[in-house]
Amino acid sequence: MNADLSPFPAELSGRRPIVIAGPCSAETEEQVLSTARGLAAAGVRIFRAGIWKPRTKPGNFEGIGAPGLKWLRKAKAETGMLVATEVATAIHTADALRAGIDMLWIGARTTANPFAVSEIAEALRGCGDVPVLVKNPVAPDLEAWIGAFERLSRAGIKRLGAVHRGFGHFGPSKYRNLPEWRVPIELRRRMPELPVLVDPSHIGGKRALVAPLAQEAMDLGFDGLMVECHVRPECAWSDKEQQLTPDDAVRLLGSLVVRGGESSSERLDMLRHRIDMLDSELIDILRRRMETSTEIGEYKREHSMPVVQEGRYRALMEERIAEAAGLGLSEAFMRGLFQAVHAESVRLQLP
Ligand code: PEP
Ligand code: MN
Repeated sequence: MNADLSPFPAELSGRRPIVIAGPCSAETEEQVLSTARGLAAAGVRIFRAGIWKPRTKPGNFEGIGAPGLKWLRKAKAETGMLVATEVATAIHTADALRAGIDMLWIGARTTANPFAVSEIAEALRGCGDVPVLVKNPVAPDLEAWIGAFERLSRAGIKRLGAVHRGFGHFGPSKYRNLPEWRVPIELRRRMPELPVLVDPSHIGGKRALVAPLAQEAMDLGFDGLMVECHVRPECAWSDKEQQLTPDDAVRLLGSLVVRGGESSSERLDMLRHRIDMLDSELIDILRRRMETSTEIGEYKREHSMPVVQEGRYRALMEERIAEAAGLGLSEAFMRGLFQAVHAESVRLQLP
């Protein structure tokens, strides 16, 4: 990308992954400095720490606030790393700029709120060179994510990047936030110049998931990683389950297989990986659909209703075909697919 537009320093240009690492929250001066030392020794060039913490529930640690900014400045002075923090209001933004923070990011809860993004964009007007990363909104709302970039661009902010941190959901899941990779993949298609980092810590929510998610991010061709690291994760004041020690970070970075995606076979691998993920989603959707069919079958049995109801079947088929045609899918393909799905539903509903 054009170097004037990159949110990352020139020395990292062309490097993959770009790594931003540091604690979920700045807690104490000692914790910030010792984590920063460990990460600088691991070769990390950009240090993150949350100063103002948006917490889902009240009563949790909500960040040390502005007094912590000077610890970040100390970490920068001592290690030479650039320092980054999250801003959610115009006041945070002004305080962070005044404290000489190098890079800002907008968190998932803030990206979802156009008023808050506009407020931050206005606070940055006239500071067009400040690098700003935007995390995806909590819901998989690509337009809101792109809208945040547009608001910042209109305020003259040029050095922008995205961070994919997964999406909130209802019910149990292996992930804290669902990866839904197709959303950041589509962001990349819509905004090809924008670097996209992945935050495996907030997607996974557990230490054991950080490395596999980081590898997946590399396999999918994303530009970098934002990883939560803490000198003593087990004592962290926020997100203790997902933070790595600086030593874990060294192991993670050393274990990543990073392919350039330049040779045709690497591109093919990347596309095949994408197909594998889409197929697993498809299989899970079909499983849920068949479970629902079985429940409907029970209802029909209890109410002495016939399994096949011609009117419902015909209407469903025509609706699905029209919906799919609107998305560019062929009628013949959809008809065949839904005939197969319907036949299996009927089989499951027969006594
Ligand atoms: C964070 O990075 O510390 C954070 C709060 O993340 P998110 O906005 O992705 O929840
Ligand atoms: Mn966190």
